[in-house]
Amino acid sequence: MSKDNKTLLTHDQVLEETLKKARYQDADVEENRKAWETTKTLIPKEFDKLNSSEKCYFCIHEPKGETAAYANVILAHEEPLSLKRGLLGLGKKNVRSRIGSLIPAYIATCKRCKRVLRMIELIKWIVTVGISLITFAVLSLLIGNGIIEESRLIMPYAIALAGVILGYVLGKISSTVYSKEKSKEVHLNVFDLDILKEMKKGGWFLLQDDKASTSLNFAKSQGDFGRIFEK
Ligand SMILES: [Zn+2]
Repeated sequence: MSKDNKTLLTHDQVLEETLKKARYQDADVEENRKAWETTKTLIPKEFDKLNSSEKCYFCIHEPKGETAAYANVILAHEEPLSLKRGLLGLGKKNVRSRIGSLIPAYIATCKRCKRVLRMIELIKWIVTVGISLITFAVLSLLIGNGIIEESRLIMPYAIALAGVILGYVLGKISSTVYSKEKSKEVHLNVFDLDILKEMKKGGWFLLQDDKASTSLNFAKSQGDFGRIFEK
């Protein structure tokens, strides 16, 4: 089955197929089905629009860009409540699991928003590495010219370390400045998007840290989780 066919399936069908292949015991199959039925009641009916939209969800202004990729995050919910054993299975089965449901969201993204969302993460590293490299270059030049003596003093190390720290700090600052500028054009946090805003109110949260700008992975396809609801 090709990936494209899979996106036409519902998750009910994907789940049935997975359970059949996994050769679970009947009780486990039933438990899985029931858990998914509960999960489904927690998901808004518009959820499938996130990945089937031809227009970008991250653009703030009209006209919204054409979908060129999918931003991927994993959403978690406490329900359905499940009990799990304590650390290493030693405890009694009484620790309430914080995660009852996990679903991936593939959110339609245009080229421009994808570039901005990626740059927020990248800019920190570009500046940190850039400033560090400049410091090392200047340092080796100073050592090469005998202005700083390499062997005797702790100074070269101190300068190198200061360069890396300065790079890191400037990297953070550039990312913040860039984010602030771009936040007028692009939604930087997934919970600012309409459907996901509603989900947050309903108790959904991100597996990763929920920062001002969500760290996103980008995919070319919508994954093989399947649609949640029938068309
Ligand atoms: Zn966009």
